[in-house]
Amino acid sequence: DLPNRLQFEDRLTIEIAHAKRYKHMVAIFFMDLDDFKKVNDSLGHHAGDQLLQIVANSLKKTLRQGDTVSRIGNKFKDNGGNICRLGGDEFTIILPGMTDCKQASMISRRILQDFNEPVSIDGQEIYITASIGISVFPNDGEDSETIIKNADTAMYRAKEQGKNKYMFYSPSMSESTMELIEMEKTLHHALDKNEFVLYYQPIYDLKNGSLIACEALVRLRSADNGFVLPEKFIPLAEETGLILPIGEWILKTACEKCKEWTSNGYDNLKVSINLSVRQIQDKYLLSKILKILKESRVDVNSVILEITESSMIENIDGTIKLLKKLRAEGIGLALDDFGTGYSSLTYLIQLPIDTLKIDRSFVRNMTSGSDTETIVAAIISMAKQLNLKIIAEGVETEEQLSFLKKHGCDKFQGYLYSPPVSEDEFFKLLERDYKK
Ligand code: C2E
Ligand code: CA
Ligand code: CA
Repeated sequence: DLPNRLQFEDRLTIEIAHAKRYKHMVAIFFMDLDDFKKVNDSLGHHAGDQLLQIVANSLKKTLRQGDTVSRIGNKFKDNGGNICRLGGDEFTIILPGMTDCKQASMISRRILQDFNEPVSIDGQEIYITASIGISVFPNDGEDSETIIKNADTAMYRAKEQGKNKYMFYSPSMSESTMELIEMEKTLHHALDKNEFVLYYQPIYDLKNGSLIACEALVRLRSADNGFVLPEKFIPLAEETGLILPIGEWILKTACEKCKEWTSNGYDNLKVSINLSVRQIQDKYLLSKILKILKESRVDVNSVILEITESSMIENIDGTIKLLKKLRAEGIGLALDDFGTGYSSLTYLIQLPIDTLKIDRSFVRNMTSGSDTETIVAAIISMAKQLNLKIIAEGVETEEQLSFLKKHGCDKFQGYLYSPPVSEDEFFKLLERDYKK
């Protein structure tokens, strides 16, 4: 029973006109539940709806509390109308007649505190948090449109800074937040518009210099943002969940390409594909992968999946089970970025992986006689004894290459031989460097 977006905008316009006349301030709250999607996904939409109603009622109650009303003034008594729902899990609150911004922080704190209590839905207790962005008339804008936009920006920033908090708008937010918002929009449409491309970085056999595999690395080629590297959009794609459809597209495209190449005489070529944490937590991942393998008709043995240790942290047992199933299908598994993060040896012996990738930061710092050199040598020898294949990443110089060779590293990739390149360029390298 809350007013909708249109009514909200009307009300705000009226309140602003009023505030101009009586020289008051008006604060706007943009509130968005954190991880609401998880509730919908795990408990169903019915539970999600119930949760929204509970939140709406609790907001009404909080805003009606005596001291809130007295601090903000009488106008607030009839405040049911000052809470609106914009859609989804987004609520707005108008605080008219304010004389001091502290009033807005006090109310935000109270609202967030209410979320400390679990909510009971269908007999299940769930914990939920929210993020609130606040902008104030006249400080943050003269008209309702600007005020709304700035509250939204502040809300994004609150999410970015770890959620479960409120944040006042400040002009410096706009630029970087706008960039993020733009990027999120771009990501939303990039799949439909065919704006993702896969680049392939060749992986060479260190012993005979033959091109034996490639790592598929995604890029975004968008009309608005130009050529964008994954570091700029993968974290956002993970956070928004968009990595699931994007990741599926990556798997499909890489498998199809690999099938094409292996059918063209490069039978033993393998393709290595990065899986993000979020994909590994997806309970449909296994069936999605099996479907893609089947439809692309790629040889299962030519596919390697790269995972990082961080994917294990949430649910180690579940992840190991999943990896074992993938392994049982014949898919290769590589542990990426080894040496950074936890590099837990406990994980290393538990995981059903067959390849270890030494992170490029180690290779970079491998100057002659350095401790890093010792560590790299130790990692290689440990991998050998554990019967793991080893790939060094980010090889940029001949010195690095010969050191790795001396210590028995199996494979490498790096700018020294080739950066990631388009599929056409990769095919040329394949013709030149693949030893049949
Ligand atoms: P990563 O998996 O560690 O990928 C290797 C990165 O090292 C690539 O960066 C590659 O361009 C870069 N690299 C290769 N050789 C050298 C070298 O000699 N020197 C230096 N300095 N760098 C080198 P890129 O393509 O920008 O990808 C960055 C990260 O983004 C990847 O790190 C990976 O974590 C993520 N990523 C890329 N593509 C995908 C994808 O398709 N799916 C997922 N989930 N993540 C991806
Ligand atoms: Ca990788
Ligand atoms: Ca890596």
